[in-house]
Amino acid sequence: LADRPVIRQALELIGRPGSRQAIPTPAAVIDRAAMNRNLIRAATICRAAGVALRPHAKTHKSADLARHQLTAGAVGICVAKVGEAEALYAAGIQDLLITSPIVGAQVAARVADLAAAGASVAVTLDHPDNATALAATARTDIDVLIDVDVGMHRTGVPTPAAALELAAVIEAAPRLRLRGVQGYGGLWQHIPDATERHAAVAAGMEQLSAAIELLDRHGHDTTIRTGGGTGTLDADLAIGVLNELQPGSYTVLDVQYRVVRSDWLDSLEHALFVSATVINAAQPTSLTIDAGLKAFATDADRPSTDLGEYLWYGDEQGLILTGAPDRPRLGTHIELLPPHCDPTVDRYDVIHVVEDDILVDLWPVHARGRSQ
Ligand code: PLP
Ligand code: MN
Repeated sequence: LADRPVIRQALELIGRPGSRQAIPTPAAVIDRAAMNRNLIRAATICRAAGVALRPHAKTHKSADLARHQLTAGAVGICVAKVGEAEALYAAGIQDLLITSPIVGAQVAARVADLAAAGASVAVTLDHPDNATALAATARTDIDVLIDVDVGMHRTGVPTPAAALELAAVIEAAPRLRLRGVQGYGGLWQHIPDATERHAAVAAGMEQLSAAIELLDRHGHDTTIRTGGGTGTLDADLAIGVLNELQPGSYTVLDVQYRVVRSDWLDSLEHALFVSATVINAAQPTSLTIDAGLKAFATDADRPSTDLGEYLWYGDEQGLILTGAPDRPRLGTHIELLPPHCDPTVDRYDVIHVVEDDILVDLWPVHARGRSQ
């Protein structure tokens, strides 16, 4: 990256007072102190409950940030895709769980290569064909979890009986080691009301428990029970079926998570910002900034700033509705909260790490775009 002029400019800013306001924009910015407080909050409540924390790197895709999570007490890292596992392993992260099913011979071959190269890579499977494909190419032992559908109908075996059938195929494969189950309900994360959210998680976890009971009765290993996310972390700990949690967004939070209510979520801090520049201030009631549709994920809400309402205003521009006399002038940098953190970070090659008003580091988004 360092051969790019804009990265060289950013590198020259590191350590200088006021450099946070000079980062080339639009840019992803993380407040390291706020992020670290989030990491420690999650690690502390998981440790108190005797539950392992394996944060999901889909949020940040950065080996540097993952190392902070491991230092704060995480047992390992989750990734969504094999491409992310490859990128993070190459950047020094050893212990990786791939939370999306491994489908087809090509993907399976890359998992086998990663494991043979020395990565501690575990996978989730939800169909006997996937187990057969991985077994055919594995040259070293690979840990496997059975992904159980707990109501989201996205991935997972649909019934406990299907889990048992898959377990038999995994056990029959010499290189595959069944270690447990995954049950993830993504739709629950964003239920705003805490009581409704808790009830939804409890109902889903009954489905996971039914699969665990059947697997246990047949002597299969269900040591690891992973799932959960930021919105349900407190409910997951209270319900107690999962013994390993995989939240991602808790690292930096976003606008979308603001409407989800709980003491746990209220204890987290916004740590991710998109820095933008005022590129036109000629209109009396609006400012134009250089952060538009390509600067943020656009699936949820709109970017947020105290200055005024943000309007999408093109691929490369946004409008902020403000006529305040003290509004920022042409050329000023402002920071906005992203609507949805994970796909926003994926739009940037680097994260600009700040402490107070100083740029202190650049973290490559190692797994940017690696969704194969
Ligand atoms: N686990 C899985 C399988 C996911 O797909 C996700 C996010 O979509 C997470 C964990 C983390 O969720 P969150 O970012 O809401 O904490
Ligand atoms: Mn997300």
